[in-house]
Amino acid sequence: MEFNTKCLQAGYEPGNGDPRQIPIYQNVTWYFDSAEHHAKIFNLEEAGYFYSRLSNPTCDAVAARLAALEGGAAAVLTSSGQTASFYSVFNICQAGDHLISASQVYGGTYNLFAVTLPKMGIEVTFVDADASLEELQAAVRPNTKAVYGETLSNPSLKVLDIEKFADLAHGAGVPLIVDNTFPTPFNCRPFEHGADIVVHSTTKYLDGHASQLGGVIIDSGNFDWLAQGDKYPGLTQPDDSYHGIVFAEQFGQPAAYITKIVTSLFRDLGAPAAPQNAFILGMNIESLPVRMERHIGNAQTIAEWLKEHKNVTHVNFPGLASDPEHALANKYFDIAGGCGVISFELDGSREDAANFLNQLRVARIATHVSDARTCVLHPASTTHRQLSDEQLPDTGVTPTLVRISVGIEDVRDLIADLDNALKATFA
Ligand SMILES: *Cc1c(COP(=O)(O)O)cnc(C)c1O
Repeated sequence: MEFNTKCLQAGYEPGNGDPRQIPIYQNVTWYFDSAEHHAKIFNLEEAGYFYSRLSNPTCDAVAARLAALEGGAAAVLTSSGQTASFYSVFNICQAGDHLISASQVYGGTYNLFAVTLPKMGIEVTFVDADASLEELQAAVRPNTKAVYGETLSNPSLKVLDIEKFADLAHGAGVPLIVDNTFPTPFNCRPFEHGADIVVHSTTKYLDGHASQLGGVIIDSGNFDWLAQGDKYPGLTQPDDSYHGIVFAEQFGQPAAYITKIVTSLFRDLGAPAAPQNAFILGMNIESLPVRMERHIGNAQTIAEWLKEHKNVTHVNFPGLASDPEHALANKYFDIAGGCGVISFELDGSREDAANFLNQLRVARIATHVSDARTCVLHPASTTHRQLSDEQLPDTGVTPTLVRISVGIEDVRDLIADLDNALKATFA
């Protein structure tokens, strides 16, 4: 099946007389006619559903759809994108371990890595995504367990050189985890460039309507855990909580990592997706290619218009030929623009930026990107306010930066709205 068809059909194959749509299994428990059968499922001796904190058929169908879109071997939905980022790392890192992350990542991810993981005994080194491979390799330690980056960073719109980061990771004998939230698999498939694990906030373009919060973790199945000696004991050593099962042997390379998340992290920490949310996500993915084309096309038109505007000093959008990310965007994305997000700086003060936002009538202020409706945000006073002045430039945010997530409205209405707001602000 081609990508567009997979968006509608992958992950769920109805039998004769079954619902045509992915059905919602709005239940927590399953019925068994023998205690022995129940016990086998509990013991991971047999596959099956028994409790929705671990797995649910609606969530599994949508996860399988996303695995198909990314070209992965296995996937699991989580309750949020933050959970996906956290579990993707925590599944293979424990106290005493070390993670290398590009510093150009989402503010929530930056905080997770800079503040919360260290409290759990996991050290994180942030590296500049533009550094050379040799410079990046200086961050590798004997206890490094993973490398992390964002294919198109939120909100700084830095394009990750996936192949360089894959070389860094594989040279150190660890997997590359990438957050592919912004381009979505419609526009970028990181496994084709050497990434081993992909995470998403499905809250963004995959949903596209700001209607459910969710995440997904997808394993390419390409990373050989057993080949790394005892670096990943959770996958390659007997697990006491499952009577000595060795995950990498019992479930095999394509399924071990995801099965470990389900049977250990969901079991002990919770935070799977809700079936109702999975249903909404699965339905909205059906229109992903149609929406992404319009998002990126509208954003290209607006970026070019903003670039010529006298009150705008700078526009970040990888689709502009003048953008420093344009070459990498051409290499890794099908459409260089990446997604519908643009950031730009106004020729004015922090107050001018706030005033400009207040004047908009079609675009609306919201803590979000990727909605079908256009939304705007001032990162320095909202999403990034928890970061210190020293940390702020690291993530690519400046005081007058405005982020606009271009929706799928008629682009003429959007340009008229921006024009009116700029005129009112700088009258
Ligand atoms: C929003 C976002 C997240 C966090 O996702 P939530 O679903 O809000 O928890 C992670 N990564 C990126 C790139 C994001 O844009």
